[in-house]
Amino acid sequence: MAEYLFTPGPVTTSPEVLLAGARPMMSHRGPRFSALLRRLQNRLRDLLDVDGPVLLLPGSGTGALELLSMNLVTPEDRVLSLSCGVFGERFREIVARRGATMAAVDVEPGRAVTVEGLRRALAEHPETTVLLLTHNETSTAVTNDIGALVASLPEEGRPLVLVDAVSSLGAMACHPQRWAVDGLASASQKGLVTPPGLALAWLSPRAWERASAVASPSYFFDAGLHRRFLEKEEPENPYTPPVSLLFSLDEALARMVEEGFVRRFASRRRFASALVAGASALGLVPFVADERARSAGVTALVVPGNRAVELQRALRGLAVEVAGGQKDMKGLLVRVAHYGDEGWPELALVLGALYGAMREVGLACGSAFVERAFEAWEERV
Ligand code: PLP
Repeated sequence: MAEYLFTPGPVTTSPEVLLAGARPMMSHRGPRFSALLRRLQNRLRDLLDVDGPVLLLPGSGTGALELLSMNLVTPEDRVLSLSCGVFGERFREIVARRGATMAAVDVEPGRAVTVEGLRRALAEHPETTVLLLTHNETSTAVTNDIGALVASLPEEGRPLVLVDAVSSLGAMACHPQRWAVDGLASASQKGLVTPPGLALAWLSPRAWERASAVASPSYFFDAGLHRRFLEKEEPENPYTPPVSLLFSLDEALARMVEEGFVRRFASRRRFASALVAGASALGLVPFVADERARSAGVTALVVPGNRAVELQRALRGLAVEVAGGQKDMKGLLVRVAHYGDEGWPELALVLGALYGAMREVGLACGSAFVERAFEAWEERV
């Protein structure tokens, strides 16, 4: 039986993208590979709307966060981390391993970081040299308004701003240069709708200056090394890259360019809004109360009676794979992701499966979910 995947990475990936990864190998030292890297650079720069290189290396989101930490943080730094959940905590832990002094502020799960909250935290930690933020906190399905947060920072003594964009890039506007972010980390397997295995990072001019002064203790994650190879007349990677994944990413980006980035972001938002409308009619309310903070890529739904684990199991019986809640939210939430090309049929499918699973485990549920979802679907085109 086919499995219908609604997890926040890996995501359902189109046959074209998968088959691109099955193309015959090519040498990673030669003009054909350099042409591929150039094309990837151009498309990623367009997606991010940035100048400068976008580093692509074997790894995952964690690897990209590690790269930022290795190249931009030193034991002398005073780091302020504002976390909305599990992945904010992970970024904090990665950076803490550099021996920097860490000030940790946790936002209540389901809420975003506010400008006031950031101001307060900075007032308490005025010595901050590095600020850690998460664009989209996957564990709670909250999206932070990075542009507004960074714009609220004081000009003088402004900390270096490092952002986890692992579960935002490709599904929503993510413009680190325009927002004055200094370091951005992402990965291939969510909004870029490519199989897992690639880490991606971008640094601002200020961050590159810092990187050249820091001297990465890691060779593998040395940002300057990657940049030097990318800036050769014939761009290359410093070591053997995952060639097949780069073929797949090339195809995925070509499809996104064809669709148009803005249209793609709108289509993910449309799915998210209609999903919330349908799920609410079923009796599954969104965990994120503030509509403006809801993610376009993943939606967290509160399961009555803390029965999320049972519901997830029943869904699996219907060949529908969603994510559960993480850590303290294990029994509370199911998370339905929509990073891929999901449209109305997939929406009807996942809502229908939720209905069947709720009935199976004996949860009370409404039946007007298709209608509610369709009304919301029709509201946004
Ligand atoms: N940050 C966020 C926001 C994530 O959602 C994830 C993975 O789900 C990670 C970091 C870690 O990424 P990876 O699992 O690719 O290492």
